[in-house]
Amino acid sequence: MALAAIYLRLSRNEQELDIDEILNSHRNALIKLAKQHKLTYDLYQEISSGVNTERPQLNLLLSKLDQYDHLLVMDIDRISRENAYAEQIKQMLILNDVKILTPSGAIDLSQESNEMLFSFQAMMANFEYKQIRKRLGRGRLAAAEQGRWTMSNKAPLGYEKDKNQRLIIVEEEAKIIRHIFQKTLERVSANEIARQLDTLGWRSRSGKVLTTSHISSARKNVVYRGVVQACRRVNNRIVDEVFVEDAHEAIIPKQQWLEVQKILEENKDKKFFDKKKANRRLQNLIYCNCCGRKRYIQYDGKQDFIKSCSYKISNNTCKDRGHKYLPVEDYVLQKVKRRKEEFETALQKLKSLDTTDVENQFSIQRESLVKQLEKFERRERNLKEMRMDGEISKTEFVEMKEENGEQIKQILQQIELIEIQRENLSNTDEEQERLEYNIQTLDKLDELEPEDCNTFLKTFIKKIHFSSNAIANHNTRNGEEQEVTIEIAWL
Ligand SMILES: [Zn+2]
Repeated sequence: MALAAIYLRLSRNEQELDIDEILNSHRNALIKLAKQHKLTYDLYQEISSGVNTERPQLNLLLSKLDQYDHLLVMDIDRISRENAYAEQIKQMLILNDVKILTPSGAIDLSQESNEMLFSFQAMMANFEYKQIRKRLGRGRLAAAEQGRWTMSNKAPLGYEKDKNQRLIIVEEEAKIIRHIFQKTLERVSANEIARQLDTLGWRSRSGKVLTTSHISSARKNVVYRGVVQACRRVNNRIVDEVFVEDAHEAIIPKQQWLEVQKILEENKDKKFFDKKKANRRLQNLIYCNCCGRKRYIQYDGKQDFIKSCSYKISNNTCKDRGHKYLPVEDYVLQKVKRRKEEFETALQKLKSLDTTDVENQFSIQRESLVKQLEKFERRERNLKEMRMDGEISKTEFVEMKEENGEQIKQILQQIELIEIQRENLSNTDEEQERLEYNIQTLDKLDELEPEDCNTFLKTFIKKIHFSSNAIANHNTRNGEEQEVTIEIAWL
């Protein structure tokens, strides 16, 4: 059975008749209407005085809007005064698929003419949208707005609360957080980090072992870059959000935090991370040049072998044939060693402070991100329109909007990272150190343990695209030798 909300409101200003009597007759009319439409209903009613503009019952109703299919009111033309929030409430009703019923007829907001919508605005005239925000959860959110930690009684690991509810660093715990972020930058998996922390004897505040899921959530937590983020949810949907930068001292510098998010985003399928020790130099780096999937290396009893690709996308199967692994590794390592010259040139440039090329590169990256951002913002507008026109359902809308919002957030983070990097161009000490380290390491590349070599390669290789350019079949290894494709995507 469909569920309706009945909303009744009378103002004390109506003196002509006995107010209880009017309220009674209105209530009866709307209950009758609900019965006619076979609706179960919740009743919201309030009597306001002229001075008092708060509408607690209406606020309550709006906060539960997604539970209802219909809103039953007496008359939408009745109340009329200018109100800036009427449009937002109208959208709330449309997005929640709530139809309005009055004794004189139904109003479907997604289909009615502008005239009716205007009437509806008038109906909501007295409603003070700001009141909702103030009334519901205002205490916490207002405190968060001042940079205080109010979302839970406990401070997150690495911090404690001072008497003003601000977070201050607890050095003994902060080292754990720094370790987690540092290791993630080195592309160590959450599993492996958990193991390391356990070995080091670094535990949670209550002495428990820090699990993989602790680590996964810690490295996404904005609190560690000095942000207080708080939100208020109504029926699991975020209705209000606060985001304050520099609310407290960061344990992880913003740039590093953003770099970690980028790595996590790039490796959402977790395959980039080592699940166990890498025993091959190119472990987790080889991807299929035909279908984009990761290629696996296996020891076949005689030698290491890149397995044939057998990934299926709907009806298309990728059948790129396998290949001996070692020649591919040799080829890549040769290419990598040739990077030394580039590193040296980059280092010299940095030393002479000619950063034009790097700056140009940042500009290009930024431009492309901005274009992507525009695309997703356009999509968001389209989604709203599609929802208004009834082309997609409420559930579809919410899902797609959240997905799209996530993309926008990612891109904004990447843009921010580039901007910080660009600002840091003049301060190049760290980059110089990195290049010097790379140059030195390249000289002794062959002496490195496979695992260390793998870690080192991952600091500047994003992916190696590989294809044997032959189709896998039963005599896989007897076929004619084809020219293989090996393309390295540098970070
Ligand atoms: Zn493939």
